[in-house]
Amino acid sequence: MDTAEFKKRGREMVDYIAEYAETLSQRRVTPNIEPGYLRHLLPYNAPHKGEEWEDIMKDVERFIMPGVTHWQHPRFHAYFPAGNSYPSILADMLSDAIGCVGFSWAASPACTELEIIMLDWLGKMIGLPHDFLCLSDHGTGGGVIQGSASECVLVSLLAARHATIRALKQQHPFVEEGVLLSKLMAYCSKEAHSSMEKAAMIGFVKLRILETDDRFQLRGTTLAKAMEEDRAMGLIPFFVMATLGTTSCCSFDPLYEIGPVCQKDGIWLHVDAAYAGSAFICPEFQYLMRGIEYASSFNMNPNKWMLLNFDCSTMWVKDRFKLTQALVVDPLYLQHSFSDKAIDYRHWGIPLSRRFRALKLWFVIRKYGVEGLQKYIRDHVRLAKKFENLIRKDDRFEVVNNVHLGLVCFRLKGSNNLNQKLLSSINASGKLHMVPASLNDRYVIRFCVCAQQATDDDISHAWEVITQFTSDLYEIMKM
Ligand code: PLP
Repeated sequence: MDTAEFKKRGREMVDYIAEYAETLSQRRVTPNIEPGYLRHLLPYNAPHKGEEWEDIMKDVERFIMPGVTHWQHPRFHAYFPAGNSYPSILADMLSDAIGCVGFSWAASPACTELEIIMLDWLGKMIGLPHDFLCLSDHGTGGGVIQGSASECVLVSLLAARHATIRALKQQHPFVEEGVLLSKLMAYCSKEAHSSMEKAAMIGFVKLRILETDDRFQLRGTTLAKAMEEDRAMGLIPFFVMATLGTTSCCSFDPLYEIGPVCQKDGIWLHVDAAYAGSAFICPEFQYLMRGIEYASSFNMNPNKWMLLNFDCSTMWVKDRFKLTQALVVDPLYLQHSFSDKAIDYRHWGIPLSRRFRALKLWFVIRKYGVEGLQKYIRDHVRLAKKFENLIRKDDRFEVVNNVHLGLVCFRLKGSNNLNQKLLSSINASGKLHMVPASLNDRYVIRFCVCAQQATDDDISHAWEVITQFTSDLYEIMKM
């Protein structure tokens, strides 16, 4: 493709994207296909000769779109939002065009420097204590963009593991590292994201998954008791992950209780706020992270709820040297003359190569402004409250979670089976898309406000669909 064709196709692609966004509501929200559908439609082998652009684009509509779940659809209420906005798409386009690989400062200085500044901007926007920021060369804090919250959790655990083993090795120089490793115990609640379980698996440490209270929160006393029991068995608590905005029901662990338990014994506290973190841009939601000053590391995903496209998962640490000590490898070809002065982000995560993701943070924050992003979050929270009120007015239903932000968990007053039937009939219709969760063995339906420009009408429509399917279900049951 030469430059002239790129310009033509680029304009066409922007038109296609805008048209897709504008007409999205006319499509089914979920595809109506079976596994393996695409294998029957595409050739067995890759084409030997290059093909016409028109033919490729035609096949996007014919073969790809019928298999797409439209996460930006106004009827999509599953999971959490998948961030999206035109400024973010355009920034990613530019990042792809620049095509630099910013593993070190020298590999593309703007890539690293913009990331440092954006993480400071964002950290301040959400009210993180200043010791998480890079603000000056004197502090030890700092932020980094990772590919996913799962990576943030993993690298925090690896940093904590490294620091703990190092300290233990000083106390017990003749004990093998493998023996010390076998004693380490990590903690989270049963509502924590499964990425914690995966991190413990990869990190080869034990994980104790703790019960929550009736509001699905991990309490400080529960944690302290578990640690005491484990210590009595010769185990060494070293890492706790608390969640602000759990995946199942958007509950918030009280950091002000968990933090002091960790602080007392120098245990690494990681806070996962993958979804809810974006809400802290609004001062009125910052009370939900009371106690954040106890955390050693914190992550949130602007690519969930801050209008940024995947991937952009931001993470801050109070002591960046603890993170890099756990991850540093330094072959000669990656070293440069400013290695001692500059941040080299390759030491902050698992991959070597890194895209220029700070560009989309910069574009989105500048284009919307803090005020615009606050409005977006507040609109979603208001709409979730509206949905909650509709449920509360209908005696057939109950609301199961405390609705702080954009997620409402509800169920029909009745068996799990009944709720399962309701959700599967709604999802099969392609009229709405929601997913379930299990809260204390009760099957609940999660309704999340996801669409970028969600409206009051979308909420009313969703409620109409849900009540219609509920009435139909009761009719069938009477037969
Ligand atoms: N933490 C929470 C609270 C989440 O809700 C999720 C995903 O929804 C994750 C972690 C994992 O996020 P990622 O897909 O970025 O690894």
